[in-house]
Amino acid sequence: MSEPAIIRPDKQTFLAEENPFEAMMERFDHAAKLLNLDRGLYKVLRNPEKQIIVSVPIVRDSGEVEVYTGYRVLYNTSRGPAKGGIRFDLNVTLEEVKALAAWMTWKCALVNIPFGGAKGGVVCDPTTMSMAELEKVTRRYTSSIIEILGPDSDVPAPDVNTNERVMAWIMDTYSMHKRHTVTAVVTGKPVEMGGSLGRREATGRGCMIVTREALTKLGMTLKGARVAVQGFGNVGSVAADLMAKEGAIIVAVSDKSAALHNPQGLDVQDLLTWVKEHRQLSGYPKAGTIPHDQLLTVDCDVLVPAATENVITSKNARHIKAKIICEGANGPTSAAADKVLEDKGVFVIPDILANAGGVTVSYFEWVQDRGGYFWDEDTVNRRLEAILVRSFGEVMAMAAKHKVANRIASYIVAVDRVAAMHRLRGMYA
Ligand code: GLU
Repeated sequence: MSEPAIIRPDKQTFLAEENPFEAMMERFDHAAKLLNLDRGLYKVLRNPEKQIIVSVPIVRDSGEVEVYTGYRVLYNTSRGPAKGGIRFDLNVTLEEVKALAAWMTWKCALVNIPFGGAKGGVVCDPTTMSMAELEKVTRRYTSSIIEILGPDSDVPAPDVNTNERVMAWIMDTYSMHKRHTVTAVVTGKPVEMGGSLGRREATGRGCMIVTREALTKLGMTLKGARVAVQGFGNVGSVAADLMAKEGAIIVAVSDKSAALHNPQGLDVQDLLTWVKEHRQLSGYPKAGTIPHDQLLTVDCDVLVPAATENVITSKNARHIKAKIICEGANGPTSAAADKVLEDKGVFVIPDILANAGGVTVSYFEWVQDRGGYFWDEDTVNRRLEAILVRSFGEVMAMAAKHKVANRIASYIVAVDRVAAMHRLRGMYA
């Protein structure tokens, strides 16, 4: 058998624990070694297929011209059209988008849907922009990358700070260029224009499903489980709500504005009403606050980091009290923190499994758009549940087989599927 060739010539330049691409690569390397991945495929899979950088100029409401930078990275499309969200955020970098595109590749393979992986982003602060400015940025960015978009080539979706409204503009811009309506070019659209029922809740619902499976494995139930949720956006708020509906006690939640704590349990419905009105948790009168960094270390059974990357690091991992971490966000745990959590015996549901509910229902949306036949919400939720329960089981089986942590097990399942496709297709040169 050939020696697994893991060559990392650039290792020196990427040692920061916070580098998201490096964090992804470390786990990929580990999985590649255990898979005994051959040298050629290793080289192919560690490089993104396509990286696009565009300028996005718009005239702001003030009349001033502003130029934003936009990225779209197609990491791997061997299994199907590239799939992945678009985020609008000041922290967007090419390194981050590359990592997120790779994670999308492994995520789609892990849940075995016929997509490759991509991600996009525009460096901007949407909180300081009007709706008209956001629309201009969205349409200009879309038209700048229009050659790669398409139901058979690259299908965006919502991500940090983007939503149904933004997806509707992308669909319209693309369709205007093509001179006919193409709903399947983007997912996470409003239901009225070809979106899928259940898509908005899908990522949070997925978190609830895999957490329930993990609790069962540890001899516990959602009923009575104490849960802390970091991030109260589309993922965190839905996960908290659905877990609370199953009887979980939500002891802490946070967003950028505040972290709320009540060991007796917060009323999630009441929090949702508050946020709908005030747009943030800050000022909520019926719970005490704690410093943001304490949310991760409060006494709880389940911790759901559902905000951003790199929040669980070697610095705070040893203080975490949760038995289960359900990674609603992409890349919330650094590679160095993985080791600490493993030594502590924390059961981690890795991001590419924990938050795969979103892209799974995106797949359903794409299928429905292409078929022109729409499913009821129960059908969507039932099919989502079946895929996530099966994937959870496959990760557990792989973890047992290789005696590795869940994260590496999920990478093994995913990388093996992508590699198998490459082997079957061969090298076109
Ligand atoms: N942005 C989401 C994710 O990171 C959804 C991607 C999609 O539905 O294509 O999984």
